[in-house]
Amino acid sequence: MAKTNEKALWFQTLTENKPLLIAGPCSAETPQQVLEIAHQIKDTAKVFRAGIWKPRTRPGGFEGVGAIGLKWLQQVKQETGMLLATEVATAEHVQLALEHGIDVLWIGARTTVNPFAVQEIADALKGTDKIVFIKNPVNPDLSLWIGGFERLQNAGIEKLGFIHRGFSSYEKNKYRNEPQWQIPIDLQIRFPEIPIINDPSHITGNRTFVASVAQKALDLNFDGLMIETHCTPDLAWSDAAQQVTPESLKNIISELKTRDLSNSEETYQINIKNFRNEIDELDSEILKLLNKRMYIVDEIGQLKKDKNVSVFQKDRWQEVLDKMKKEASGFELGEAFITALYKAIHQESLSRQDHIINKK
Ligand code: PEP
Ligand code: MN
Repeated sequence: MAKTNEKALWFQTLTENKPLLIAGPCSAETPQQVLEIAHQIKDTAKVFRAGIWKPRTRPGGFEGVGAIGLKWLQQVKQETGMLLATEVATAEHVQLALEHGIDVLWIGARTTVNPFAVQEIADALKGTDKIVFIKNPVNPDLSLWIGGFERLQNAGIEKLGFIHRGFSSYEKNKYRNEPQWQIPIDLQIRFPEIPIINDPSHITGNRTFVASVAQKALDLNFDGLMIETHCTPDLAWSDAAQQVTPESLKNIISELKTRDLSNSEETYQINIKNFRNEIDELDSEILKLLNKRMYIVDEIGQLKKDKNVSVFQKDRWQEVLDKMKKEASGFELGEAFITALYKAIHQESLSRQDHIINKK
């Protein structure tokens, strides 16, 4: 069965129901750089991206070539026919982008966090029919992301989409920005008709992981990808480690598997229904066990209250966590998953006991 497409009509028309690929360098650097990349990816990607104004976390880095680069992008369109995309962060950027025929504008992660900035951009876009993508804010705040979207929607912009580029964290992890897939999944459920694109470049920060994150995004029904591409990535003026060459872009795209939303064959339908029944029963068991566990947690809370003992017991918590990690290693249960699960259970246990101990 073909993927039944719930997406907005403008997006279906644009993409002909294939994943939308936006590719190009993190930053426009020189006219030659931009044109060379564009010519090498024009048969792979539909939309050419290049940052003209670069919001850098700390001063001193390359902050973009500025408005002059828009002329180079116009040249890209003339020579390749690709659509053009760039990031805008102020009303002035919007104005200049409109004057230079940019087709797709995106709001960057550092801008989405600021409602004043998003409102300014939304106001500047009033009355245009541009495609606008809003990246997730740097922090994992779904409301802020939706709020940005609503500001654009309220300004009458109809061709809207989301870009998921991951969320920053204090700890250094495998990826530059944690994907926290549950957040874009929640978004897909809230806004089934709004396209959502994945940006594996800014999630991974490392070109070796770009393909696997891109595949995961397609497996989770994302509607497209934005992949930073550069002819000499290691020499790029920004985000060097995560950009791929036009040739690897082509390989990544040709290896990606697109999935159907479902399958109508009878054996598939019967098997999945049976498995899901089993899952449903197990989920009910899990709930019953959790409830039983919390009952005992409450009893302990009462005991602590009677003896005026503090709720949090560091050694006991360490003991529980270590024990469960060890037991889980005997099953096929990942340590990160078990840690997250037990942290959640422990948090809930602490809250319940705190409530008991302070009850008048
Ligand atoms: C970018 O796309 O180059 C960029 C700056 O992205 P983000 O806003 O996701 O950091
Ligand atoms: Mn970048």
